[in-house]
Amino acid sequence: MAELNYIFGPVPSRRLGFSLGIDPIPFKTCTLDCVYCQLGKTTLKTINRRVYLPTEKIMENLKEVLSEGRRIDFITFSGSGEPTLHLEIGRMIEEIKRISCHPVAILTNGTLLTLPEVREELKRADLVIPSLDTVDKETFQKLNRPHPQLEIEKIVEGLINFRRIYEGKLWIEIMIVDGINDTPEEILSLKRAIEKIKPDKVQLNVPTRPPSEKWVKVPEKNKLNKIKELLGSKAEFISEFRKRGKISPKAHLEEEILSFLMRRPATLNNLSASLGIHKLEILKYIEILLKKGKITEKLFNNKIYFVPKRGG
Ligand code: SF4
Repeated sequence: MAELNYIFGPVPSRRLGFSLGIDPIPFKTCTLDCVYCQLGKTTLKTINRRVYLPTEKIMENLKEVLSEGRRIDFITFSGSGEPTLHLEIGRMIEEIKRISCHPVAILTNGTLLTLPEVREELKRADLVIPSLDTVDKETFQKLNRPHPQLEIEKIVEGLINFRRIYEGKLWIEIMIVDGINDTPEEILSLKRAIEKIKPDKVQLNVPTRPPSEKWVKVPEKNKLNKIKELLGSKAEFISEFRKRGKISPKAHLEEEILSFLMRRPATLNNLSASLGIHKLEILKYIEILLKKGKITEKLFNNKIYFVPKRGG
């Protein structure tokens, strides 16, 4: 249906402005299997670094998009798995620096910064945003369900070591899940680790899209405010608050896609680029909407567009 593309966007992002995404890893290939992951369960949990997708093709795709001259504030490695699993991420960063003047950001779960070579490779990036949701062993297992060879103490050490050699901006992202990593004890231990890491910012996030596990809930606003206070002046929120409770898939993506299509028909690629969500994720909801008869497909210029069924 859609041609294979490793680049998405540029999509407007609250943190990064217009962010052009690079997705160098197959869907849900990750070192973790976070309960809040908006992409669903990890299908390949691994710590093996290799060339998962062809570097040349990724760079070719990137050059094509760059030649369109659209506004780009950041070229961001993120996507649908852990980008540092790609063995040639360092080479790709180097090449981007050679062919463009856009700053490079890396969204990572930080687990592979335990490896000196990964720390070296990410050194050339302008902004690195590793996530660190907890420093407690048990909570790490419960919340992030890591690959068995990963240890949270080593990950924190890796982040401290990275900061020592890295001169760019470092923002730590913490995802807060109600009843899991939101106690004052949890937050204070995390704060102590963060003081050693010395990031430029600490960004608090809450699950805003349908999570991998249905039981995942967003903490109350009061609790979140206390957490922010406990973490000190570098902490800020990056998500809007939602009402406490379960996050219903129906209430979010399905409606978001439908309301987008009400405004203009779109292909799978258009939807993915505009909403900043992986194509496979979008496809799940497209299928639901098609089954419900709320949208239909139209072929135009050899491309499949999705359009709302009026009165559907
Ligand atoms: S949230 Fe990120 S780190 Fe966690 S499983 Fe999903 S892709 Fe991996």
